[in-house]
Amino acid sequence: MKSMLEVQNLTKHFHVGKGRVVHACDDVSFTLVKGATLGLVGESGCGKSTVARTAIRLYEPTSGRIILDGTDITNMDQKTLKPLRKKIQMVFQDPYASLNARMTVRDIIAEPLRAHKVTSSKSETDDLVNELLKQVGLGSEHARRYAHEFSGGQRQRIGIARALILQPEIIICDEPISALDVSIQAQVVNLLREFQLEKRLTYLFIAHDLSMIRYVSDQVGVMYLGRLVELASVDQIYKEPLHPYTKGLLSSIPIPNPTEARKRVKSEISGDLPSPIAPPPGCRFHTRCPYKMPICEEVLPPEKDQGDGHMVACHLY
Ligand code: SF4
Repeated sequence: MKSMLEVQNLTKHFHVGKGRVVHACDDVSFTLVKGATLGLVGESGCGKSTVARTAIRLYEPTSGRIILDGTDITNMDQKTLKPLRKKIQMVFQDPYASLNARMTVRDIIAEPLRAHKVTSSKSETDDLVNELLKQVGLGSEHARRYAHEFSGGQRQRIGIARALILQPEIIICDEPISALDVSIQAQVVNLLREFQLEKRLTYLFIAHDLSMIRYVSDQVGVMYLGRLVELASVDQIYKEPLHPYTKGLLSSIPIPNPTEARKRVKSEISGDLPSPIAPPPGCRFHTRCPYKMPICEEVLPPEKDQGDGHMVACHLY
């Protein structure tokens, strides 16, 4: 298994004035394996997007290490990093906001080619754009139109075409379907899966609930208030979740079958996510955890491998 992107103990703090520090992500480690998908899940504000953006150096890490396809890019200067950036592209959450309303679809999709000076003529650029439009299920007749003329699902297809045009190896999918109608979500997920199989792409797929990423992920990482609290294969997470927070997230997924629903042990999470400016000491989840013990308020639970690569950070284990 080839490692495409490895982050080790990645930490990102933002100083927000008056001595206050946002602990957006702390000590997060994971590996993206070539051709596979790591789903990163957690409530809004838990640091998933910050981890992803720091892992590709859109934000400078406070500490930790980042290895991209065998190269340590942690401290690499941005000029040296630029050609390597072509390997990683992003698909954003909100196709309404992420596409420039004043640009034609052709210019939106061609933008990365211009930024990286990839093509040498207009016709070469047009050919590539038309090819990508075809691959995402649109046509060359759409190239001259503007993003606002398209539906949400079509706009996300345009976003995917833009992400693919530099032939990247890794795609960060930052909640790519959560702004779309349920009926469209499966189409976009299927399109992403098709490209993954065809081009052996590696995905980091960010979502705020576990129901969305079950069918796209090989591995799932669960984040809570800037920390990775559980990391395991998709089967381990859904069949044998260990961390009380993961159990709570799973408990909130509706089960259509009433018999199955009655069997489920309820483990709902109460209360609000604490502020990342003053995260609780010890286990950050202790203010909401139904299994809290005295040690949880004082001692940070270390990450422990429970076997088969199933990592959990909780004093119960
Ligand atoms: Fe709950 Fe304690 Fe485990 Fe944290 S360490 S999840 S508070 S049992």
